[in-house]
Amino acid sequence: MYLTGGIGAQRNTEGFGEDYDLPNADAYNETCAAVASMLWNHRMFLLEGDSKYMDIFERTLYNGFLSGVSLSGDRFFYPNPLSCDGVTPFNQGSLQRAPWFGTSCCPVNVVRMLPSVPGYVYATRGNDIYVNLYIAGVGEIQTGAGAVRLTQETRYPWDGKVRVTVEPEHAGRFALRCRIPGWARGEPVPSDLYEYSGDAEIQDWTVRVNGEQLGVQSERGYAVIDREWKAGDAVTLDLPMRTNFVRANPRVGADRNRVAIERGPLVYCFEGVDNRALEGLVIEPGSPGQWSFDPALLGGVGVIDLVGEHVRRLEDGTTDREPTEARAIPYYAWAQREVGPMEVWVAASADAVPVRPVPTAASCAAASASHCWANDSVRAINDLREPVSSSDETIPRLTWWDHRGTAEWVQLDLAGVCEVSGVGVYWFDDTGHGQCRVPASWRVLCRVANEWRRVETGELAVQKDAYCHAGFGAVRTDAVRVEVRLQDGFSGGVLEVKLDSAAP
Ligand SMILES: [Zn+2]
Repeated sequence: MYLTGGIGAQRNTEGFGEDYDLPNADAYNETCAAVASMLWNHRMFLLEGDSKYMDIFERTLYNGFLSGVSLSGDRFFYPNPLSCDGVTPFNQGSLQRAPWFGTSCCPVNVVRMLPSVPGYVYATRGNDIYVNLYIAGVGEIQTGAGAVRLTQETRYPWDGKVRVTVEPEHAGRFALRCRIPGWARGEPVPSDLYEYSGDAEIQDWTVRVNGEQLGVQSERGYAVIDREWKAGDAVTLDLPMRTNFVRANPRVGADRNRVAIERGPLVYCFEGVDNRALEGLVIEPGSPGQWSFDPALLGGVGVIDLVGEHVRRLEDGTTDREPTEARAIPYYAWAQREVGPMEVWVAASADAVPVRPVPTAASCAAASASHCWANDSVRAINDLREPVSSSDETIPRLTWWDHRGTAEWVQLDLAGVCEVSGVGVYWFDDTGHGQCRVPASWRVLCRVANEWRRVETGELAVQKDAYCHAGFGAVRTDAVRVEVRLQDGFSGGVLEVKLDSAAP
């Protein structure tokens, strides 16, 4: 499970991968899967009466589910990744929420889930009442001993103070069980998958009844207030809202040496529009952070301003560092402004910043193609992400799906005229579970003085799991095109293209 409560990491199977395999940019986390997890956890709560299920329900509700719908309520995410480069489309061909999809399960699940939220706030067992969610409003609960009216006054999740006024139909004894969320008890999730760093483990929540602080018994994650109740009794809960720094279990490779920010039930993220640059942003756990509520931003959200560092590490071993300010917003509210990058997990130290590959003639070029499947991206062919095999599904790719047996091409328009003497192409091939194969044949053209010229390469080999290379006499060119003939009945694709050329 992701920190957002999202589940189902694998895009291609819409399922789970290996244990601890939680890639951030390639996370699938379908909105529907978040709904399913909430429904399942609610039923487990009804069966067991344990707050850990409602902790996951709440974490998912405010984060991995709510991100699935726009603030305007009419646009939707299908996948809910925890990282975005601002370039590679992830939402069925888009970087933004869409009004509808070919298979439009997510929008209709959101439209059912949101209006049902009031039904998850309270629960009863015998004469007892469980308060599971803190949401301002009035509820009328039927218990074994008659009706009880509960009025919640709160600004949760922005504020941790909650006042619950109890008005039983008949005065009498019963237990009010108020959920003390895992995040307020120093436990982000009921396992060792994530943990808070620093002093967040201090348990400093308090419960008062009619103004008097109680030494409350805690049972299965609930503060149990078992007493005679009469109309007008008020319970005041104070939950510790502060900036929490989260670390993932070291077995989660994607989050190793990284940190995420939370406040209350909300997971925060960093967006390009609020920050000078996300690549190389370092936030050390425990960095000074200032929370404030901005009523004008994103329909009214709390923002966290932090002090961090910008670090640039290059392949040649040089490292530049400079202090920077960074702003985090609630994850659910991302991608509502301009298209750009987003990160939930940022580097926790300078040495966690990935070494940046030195730009090449290919990576500086503009990529285009005869066709690209909506879930893929043309930009994948020169993003400098090295495949580990032709069936590598962990990196972005271009496929010509669902074209089969056709003639297709990919093209790199160079930043200027360059001397090019060879092309390397890493083909995508998902034999065994897909319909993409290496092409039947391929050839290379270079554009010289606005004319395409076929460069003499002889018969070009086609192979899997390595770059296929075409070498030729150096040509001064401003664009390189790779033409392919797909195998009969099959589609195909490209993971990466390299050029033999001096850097621009
Ligand atoms: Zn769906």
